[in-house]
Amino acid sequence: TGSPAWAGGAAAAPPGDDGAATGGVRLSGVRKSFGHLDIIHGIDLSIPEGAFTVFVGPSGCGKSTLLRMIAGLEEVSDGLIAIKGRDVTDLDPSDRGIAMVFQSYALYPHMSVRDNLAFGLKMANTPKAEIDRRVAAASAILKTDHLLDRRPGQLSGGQRQRVAIGRAIVRKPDVFLFDEPLSNLDAELRVSMRIEIARLHRELGNTMIYVTHDQTEAMTLADMIVVLREGRIEQVGSPREIYEDPANSFVAGFIGSPR
Ligand code: ADP
Ligand code: MG
Repeated sequence: TGSPAWAGGAAAAPPGDDGAATGGVRLSGVRKSFGHLDIIHGIDLSIPEGAFTVFVGPSGCGKSTLLRMIAGLEEVSDGLIAIKGRDVTDLDPSDRGIAMVFQSYALYPHMSVRDNLAFGLKMANTPKAEIDRRVAAASAILKTDHLLDRRPGQLSGGQRQRVAIGRAIVRKPDVFLFDEPLSNLDAELRVSMRIEIARLHRELGNTMIYVTHDQTEAMTLADMIVVLREGRIEQVGSPREIYEDPANSFVAGFIGSPR
């Protein structure tokens, strides 16, 4: 592939741009404080439509807080968030066209896989025939058809994580948000699920934002990496750019590139 439009540090949002230019996700001057503690210090970022973007950085740098603000699970203290050119800053999570993938333990243990997949759609009063269609489609993508009548407790860790991802797929979101979805799986399973998630992105083509503290996950999954440190962006670029031309010694040290 050629050099994408966002390459070369073109991450800062021009003033007044509401994200219409990208069709993806646009953050403009996004800040977050908890009480007197400033956690996110004014993030300007343009995430192109369809890109697999990874937020990476050490524990506590604000990755989850940033993702939760995009999801609408956390209010911004200042700034704007636009998705597909629409200002969603003050919208409820369910009105943003996003779906968040949580760790697999967020499944309902007393429900079958089928009911876990259908639950959100039922809550949204989706007609039964449409629910059945979407559950079948998601199961086909994730190869979980044979598991639909089981309970989460009867599944392996990897199967549970597929169902957790399936719950996002059935909602047909514009944007998928992942917060360290693989961090409670063992090393071998993490690798195979990483491959599954990459395949999912190729098949669906959605904008995906993926949070991890794991450099290998970032380097292997991302079209675009956003390196965060203490609530600020240190660098934005392709894995190759970040590796070969780290912006500073923090990025070089964190990604493990020679410098
Ligand atoms: P990461 O996901 O990168 O590990 P977080 O976004 O979870 O980081 O947290 C960033 C910082 O914000 C941490 O110092 C954390 O303690 C703090 N923080 C997160 N949520 C809250 C909260 N609800 N109240 C106070 N501080 C919080
Ligand atoms: Mg986190």
